[in-house]
Amino acid sequence: MYELHDVVKSYGQGAAALHAVDGNSLSINAGEFVVVEGPSGSGKSTLLQMLGALDRPTAGSVLFEGNDLALMPDRQLAALRLRTFGFVFQQFNLVPTLTAVENIEAALAPLSGSRRKKHERAMRLLNGVGLADRATHLPSQLSGGEQQRVAIARALVTEPTLLLADEPTGNLDSRTTIEVMALFQALNEQGITIVIVTHEPDVAQYAKRIIEMRDGRILRDHPVMDRRDAAADLATLDTDPNDSLENAA
Ligand code: ADP
Repeated sequence: MYELHDVVKSYGQGAAALHAVDGNSLSINAGEFVVVEGPSGSGKSTLLQMLGALDRPTAGSVLFEGNDLALMPDRQLAALRLRTFGFVFQQFNLVPTLTAVENIEAALAPLSGSRRKKHERAMRLLNGVGLADRATHLPSQLSGGEQQRVAIARALVTEPTLLLADEPTGNLDSRTTIEVMALFQALNEQGITIVIVTHEPDVAQYAKRIIEMRDGRILRDHPVMDRRDAAADLATLDTDPNDSLENAA
């Protein structure tokens, strides 16, 4: 799916230049579930922006399905971002004046189809993230985890093959984090490739592969041993309420 060759992203010029991403090569295959983990400032978001064609490298190349993103015409890039990539952010980015289902319908606006069809589709997506009964709630009437699930449903409207998520659990407590990770695991089971950027080591144990970044460089890149099943962790929490969340996470 992706091939990155000696990718550098610098800000500023000359001696003052800061290399947010400092010469990394890697590949990501379809069906992977990757967590890019590292402390704040290690270049994770910058890397994700380049994967999502939201930014271009200063040097090196990002190939998506064999095509160099930096050489793609803008129209093709826009189509990729609209159709192929789904984006999920820490802040949810829901429109506060629209209900849950309307937020998803709004994302369907650029696509063809009748209003009724779009509404049905939005409801199916909400149902898929377990929130059909919250359809008419405004974001302010939803918990953080519910808002993020709406945001994930919205990211799924165009049936992306890839979800790119920047700190998707950054605003969530530990139980809700596991709920959202269960959703990502289920989506990955359905064949969607997932790349999550996070500074939370707990999140990585639900992925299949961890790329550890430090100071713009890949420090380690390895499969997850003893991968956790988020749905099973939730079931454990539900059956044994005395078990602390920290034990499960
Ligand atoms: P992370 O996602 O790991 O927290 P970032 O990719 O956001 O790290 O940032 C990596 C480094 O690049 C940081 O030192 C950050 O301050 C710097 N940086 C990121 N974006 C910009 C920008 N637009 N202009 C200048 N410096 C930036």
